[in-house]
Amino acid sequence: MKLNEIKVTNPYLNLDDEFYDRVKPDPLFKPHLIHVNKYVAKTLDIDESELETDDFLKLLNGEFQPEGSDTFAMCYAGHQFGHFVPRLGDGRAINIGMIDKFQLQLKGAGKTEYSRMGDGRAVLRSSIREYLVSEAMTNLRIPTTLCLGLIGSEHEVRRERIEKGAIVCRVSTSWVRFGTFEYYAANGMFKELKELADYVIEESFPHIKGNPDPYKLLFNEVMVITSRLMAQWMSVGFNHGVMNTDNMSIAGLTIDYGPFAFLDDFKHHNVCNHTDVNGRYSYANQPAVAKWNLQALMKVLSPLTPIEGMEKLLELYDRVYARYTHYYMCKKLGLEGTVEGDPELIDEMYDMLEKLKVDYTLFLRTLSHYKHKGDRSDLLATALYHEPMNDWLDVYDERIKYIDPTERRNQMLNVNPKYVLKNYMLQEAIDKAEMGDFSVVDDLFNIAKQPFEEHPEFERWAKATPKEFRNQRLSCSS
Ligand code: AMP
Ligand code: MG
Repeated sequence: MKLNEIKVTNPYLNLDDEFYDRVKPDPLFKPHLIHVNKYVAKTLDIDESELETDDFLKLLNGEFQPEGSDTFAMCYAGHQFGHFVPRLGDGRAINIGMIDKFQLQLKGAGKTEYSRMGDGRAVLRSSIREYLVSEAMTNLRIPTTLCLGLIGSEHEVRRERIEKGAIVCRVSTSWVRFGTFEYYAANGMFKELKELADYVIEESFPHIKGNPDPYKLLFNEVMVITSRLMAQWMSVGFNHGVMNTDNMSIAGLTIDYGPFAFLDDFKHHNVCNHTDVNGRYSYANQPAVAKWNLQALMKVLSPLTPIEGMEKLLELYDRVYARYTHYYMCKKLGLEGTVEGDPELIDEMYDMLEKLKVDYTLFLRTLSHYKHKGDRSDLLATALYHEPMNDWLDVYDERIKYIDPTERRNQMLNVNPKYVLKNYMLQEAIDKAEMGDFSVVDDLFNIAKQPFEEHPEFERWAKATPKEFRNQRLSCSS
């Protein structure tokens, strides 16, 4: 499809006008294309030849309006660090319409009714992070929003220092957040609350339509996909960093990437968000915070379906989460079937890794190559002290004794990435990009695209994170 053949729709605008602010993007000054995700373009059926045109750059800068365009920002509320904020909304994200089932949104395209004190802009560094990590998550098979492209500009944006404005064109099947429901419930707007629930069922859970109690089922769906998402984050060592209810997708996607981190050396209580002084959003706390957020969602859905039914469902959360975690971790350890002692084996691995300060991604990738009672030198080389790892490997050896070694290895290499986008790698891409060199952005995109492949040319990124860059905390200012 050519750009001028695109016809977008805007089903969200069929909702009451309390749901959005019709607002036009405010383009950046002297924009330039940094990267385009041709795989996402293909999903949207946009011709590859169109991606280098001036119109494509204009599309990403909010200057080219496809047919049917009627741009808007969405209204929501949310609990930020546990405190309710009655009115948030897209302060700098402007929806430019839906192609097929994908909604395109320009993040950093100017102020909206919900900008509060903000300038409606996004800086280059945070935009690079979001652009790359959404591709990484996709290929790690973790539900996420996507990005079609990234543009930079000469637009000056004031943060702690003067930076350059950028825009990522984000793409998602849903932009509704837990906080969207909270907004209407907090304002006693129950007609709108029901309207929103029906919209979400249509958009993300059409299979539950027509059920006698669809809202209870809606809660059940969100509970299950959220617990699965948490299990996936935990298994890959992802720490989101800002799990406010306005950053929780009702469709179970990873959204709103900020000061996130992939673990360097394994640390249960890793905190990646500089402002998170109490560690509310630490790595280990994520499953519990998701449950807290589900509870907040449950409360606001209670005008639509009896709370007792949802409470019963929420009681299942811990078990559902444990099941998913067990499933993903057994795959990562190459364990077949379920044997008594498996949960302990997994927990003991975590404790051992933390005690020895071992790089999480490196350990599991190296373990994938390990043969039953085989050469341990590569594994032991990941730690300074060897005894706890040897002890753990003795138990592991016993557990994998009867598992087909080739099958185990293949399975493990397929689920234990050789590369994740650690913060020091992203920072390298950002430092270069701020000087006009986007080559590391390209390189990181390539490994994000195929995280399970070897990429010998990028071997240095498969090693443990250099000591001086480990477990750093990032600021939210983006
Ligand atoms: P976050 O926790 O980063 O997802 O952001 C929380 C809220 O602040 C969201 O409603 C954002 O739209 C809004 N926000 C963040 N940065 C800006 C900005 N520079 N201008 C306007 N709104 C912003
Ligand atoms: Mg947000």
